[in-house]
Amino acid sequence: MIVNKELMNKELMNKEFMNKELMNKEFMNKEQMIQETEENLLHVYNRPGIVFDHGEGCYLYDTEGNRYLDFAAGIAVCGLGYGDAEFQDALKAQVDKLLHTSNLFYHTACADAARALTRISGMDRVFFTNSGTEAIEGALKSARKYAWAKGTGRYEFIAMSDSFHGRSMGALSVTEHQEYRTPFEPLISGVKFAKFNDLESVKALITDKTCAIILEPLQGEGGINPGTTEFLQGVRQLCDENGILLIADEIQCGMARTGKMFAWQISGVKPDIMTMAKAIGNGVPVGAFAMTEEVAKYSLAPGDHGTTYGGNPLACTAVAKVVEIFEKRNILAHVNEMGAYLRARLEELQAQSGGRITELRGLGLIQGIRLNGPVGEVTKKALSRGLIIISARADVIRLVPPLIVEKEQIDEMVSIVKECL
Ligand SMILES: *Cc1c(COP(=O)(O)O)cnc(C)c1O
Repeated sequence: MIVNKELMNKELMNKEFMNKELMNKEFMNKEQMIQETEENLLHVYNRPGIVFDHGEGCYLYDTEGNRYLDFAAGIAVCGLGYGDAEFQDALKAQVDKLLHTSNLFYHTACADAARALTRISGMDRVFFTNSGTEAIEGALKSARKYAWAKGTGRYEFIAMSDSFHGRSMGALSVTEHQEYRTPFEPLISGVKFAKFNDLESVKALITDKTCAIILEPLQGEGGINPGTTEFLQGVRQLCDENGILLIADEIQCGMARTGKMFAWQISGVKPDIMTMAKAIGNGVPVGAFAMTEEVAKYSLAPGDHGTTYGGNPLACTAVAKVVEIFEKRNILAHVNEMGAYLRARLEELQAQSGGRITELRGLGLIQGIRLNGPVGEVTKKALSRGLIIISARADVIRLVPPLIVEKEQIDEMVSIVKECL
């Protein structure tokens, strides 16, 4: 929805109504709420005309009481779905106990979260951030610092075609999508793009200045593209032979989404640095970058990096609790079972689609349905029938439901998508 601000001001905004004292729900219907939001927010998203109010399990409810089956999960964030009592009780208890200390001091939640993340990631040291893009910034800085401290003179990054690593200047510099980049150039220098899943193209870009290779083991925004084992192992080998660090961006594909806790575990290609965010906080804004001891030894040290909020007691409580719940409820087994079911149902759907579906791609509970054209009309129709699905690039429907999704909900999704195709 594009909102013309002038028109809105003239025709729709009764100044008296804008008096903040009158601003409560009783006075505002849905349209007014949307108008007011658009009046005050910077317009960088085109949102559908729905206002969400609360959630439960795999469903969201709007202010008019309509129910939506959610196969987006806040962009692969809400792994435990909505309203998980155990998770929420832990957050509430932490709010009452201690919300923030800054990173100048230790706090109890930090110990739990750092222990949990290093253990499940296979990394040795972790740094908490507030978002995915900040985790990428930290990973890039870690690699540059490592090369600098070793005196190698290396500073170049090799990133991949169709990559997405975030919207801050460093993360944007390693994100290939030209439309996201152009208005903000010049970005940081020393970045080259190889073709994802094409080892020769990576090899061709390596020089004695290459500091790190950054990739998503399974690309999310770029259209749900899993890296092949052959490619990932080949990249690891090139890194080892040439003294280059491998950075794995697990922000979207990590945290059990593919059926492994982290997607790199599928190929066994362990990175030197990895980034996490999205599902690690189940909706609490938190990210992290982590590294092996070998990198940490030469990398960021006191004075090199920091954050006021990053890994505050609330964020750390969320991370520690998410990991605890994932393990206690064996979420990996559930993702593998549901992932196989989802894939089987999608294959049926493709077979019946008369060529409309050209390709299925993905792993576990991150699946893409590629259509023979743009998916915008399909996602719009689905929303009007109570199903939330989002795209990954123009022609792929991205399915990233809460990891607690059940077969009935997969069936419900498939039948709505079928109607919409
Ligand atoms: C979402 C995403 C990011 C950026 O995370 P934000 O929290 O939005 O800054 C980076 N990398 C990947 C792979 C992502 O999916």
